[in-house]
Amino acid sequence: MVNSFDVMIIGSGPGGYVAAIRAAQLGLKTACVEKEKVLGGTCLNIGCIPSKCLLQSSEMYYQLLHEGKTHGIEATPKINFPQMMKRKEDVVSGFNMGIEGLFKKNKVTHIKGTATFKDPHTMTVEGQDYTSKNFILATGSEPTPLPFLPFDEERVLSSTGALALKEVPKKMIVVGAGIIGVELGSVYSRLGTEIHFVEFLDKICPTLDDAISKALEQTLTKQGLTFQLSSKVSSAEVTSSGVKLSIEAGEALSAERVLVSVGRRPYTQGLGLEAAQITPDQRGFIPIDDNFRTSQPHIYAIGDLVDGPMLAHKASEEGYAAAEIIAGQSPHIEYIAIPSVVYTHPEVGAVGLTEAEAKGMGLSIKTGKFPFKANSRARCSGDDFGFVKMIADAKTGVLLGVHIISAHAGELIAEATLALEKRATAADLARTCHAHPTLSEALKEAALALTSKPIHM
Ligand SMILES: Cc1cc2nc3c(=O)[nH]c(=O)nc-3n(C[C@H](O)[C@H](O)[C@H](O)COP(=O)(O)OP(=O)(O)OC[C@H]3O[C@@H](n4cnc5c(N)ncnc54)[C@H](O)[C@@H]3O)c2cc1C
Repeated sequence: MVNSFDVMIIGSGPGGYVAAIRAAQLGLKTACVEKEKVLGGTCLNIGCIPSKCLLQSSEMYYQLLHEGKTHGIEATPKINFPQMMKRKEDVVSGFNMGIEGLFKKNKVTHIKGTATFKDPHTMTVEGQDYTSKNFILATGSEPTPLPFLPFDEERVLSSTGALALKEVPKKMIVVGAGIIGVELGSVYSRLGTEIHFVEFLDKICPTLDDAISKALEQTLTKQGLTFQLSSKVSSAEVTSSGVKLSIEAGEALSAERVLVSVGRRPYTQGLGLEAAQITPDQRGFIPIDDNFRTSQPHIYAIGDLVDGPMLAHKASEEGYAAAEIIAGQSPHIEYIAIPSVVYTHPEVGAVGLTEAEAKGMGLSIKTGKFPFKANSRARCSGDDFGFVKMIADAKTGVLLGVHIISAHAGELIAEATLALEKRATAADLARTCHAHPTLSEALKEAALALTSKPIHM
């Protein structure tokens, strides 16, 4: 029957489309429903990909402007903002077509429209009913607004609005110095916007190890971004020329635009969860068991819709695993080995436990640190800010966490991720030969610092 499937996936983000392709590869009759015109979800259309495009373009401009001279390159770069945005859109639309092509190649049926449960076994899309033996819910998340400051994407921006501006603002206040906030703040700061952060907590990017968060704050401050920590926005007034924010026990602030990046919340609007007899938890997440099963055993949920870090690769791992479980396999995800990257300059790459988390768990730990100032490749590049911090079990030496702040830390963290996935020890890493001169040698040196002594310090 045309309208009946082995597995129907709702949402085509990195969770949903990967689940769909994997399910089809395993021989399941698969459909993926997407309410937006294009495939790829938040990550591809309004998240990871467009933000990284703008980070790359703005970094190129910043480097030419501020660092070219030292390298003997004299140029006066000029910003063509419409072209920068067009390049970003071209990259995104290329990938949109790429996923469409992968669906065709793998025989995944792409159903266009909003999927709504009619009952636990039937989904309605655009007036058409579909049944499926299994469902995977991958409807993702949306930006959380401040209750007194709804997004208008004109003056009050979510990340979506900040990725689609028509011109570079003169001044922007960013409420929330989390990963998305500091990335988008960096983009506009490099392009000339005066960026001021207001953050409720006493550190930026609160999930990071304290030492890394502090170093990131220092280096971003040097680049001209300003941070007002331990401060709460209590009310706001939007006018035709800008936004005025009241700060609890502080002076009011105003700017042409405000980017609100205080977090994201699960998105289940229009999904008809009541008809499926599934109840989200108090924060809106869908409760699941270890096999991604909701309270209805044939309905699975993955990605931003369920608890855990809201990251594209976490969603993809879960999608891949959920499809395999439906096909009768027994995959396993090592959650401690899910890396996280902040794509500022320098970047941050982190995997595993922070020092505070490890201590909070009562673990006895050893740490090793190595600065990029003593790394030859970093010195050749003239980009030697940062360090590697490695945390291992004091007795066994098994790695518990690796935290890097440096150029290309997002690439360097892959080695540490494999080490954690395979439960390697610091000695394993210290004994591994690393090419010279590379930034990766700093990982070996940090492991040496943890196990005995580094060579180049
Ligand atoms: C600015 C920004 C930058 C980011 N950068 C990174 C990064 O660098 N690295 C990283 O790992 N993560 C990043 N993220 C987070 C990442 O985008 C998310 O973690 C990821 O997209 C979650 O994937 P998902 O498949 O769970 O959901 P989503 O990608 O949100 O996809 C859900 C899809 O479901 C569709 N949908 C919802 N309801 C229905 C319905 N009823 N019927 C049909 N379709 C429906 C939606 O239209 C959407 O396309 C970023 C996010 C933002 C906002």
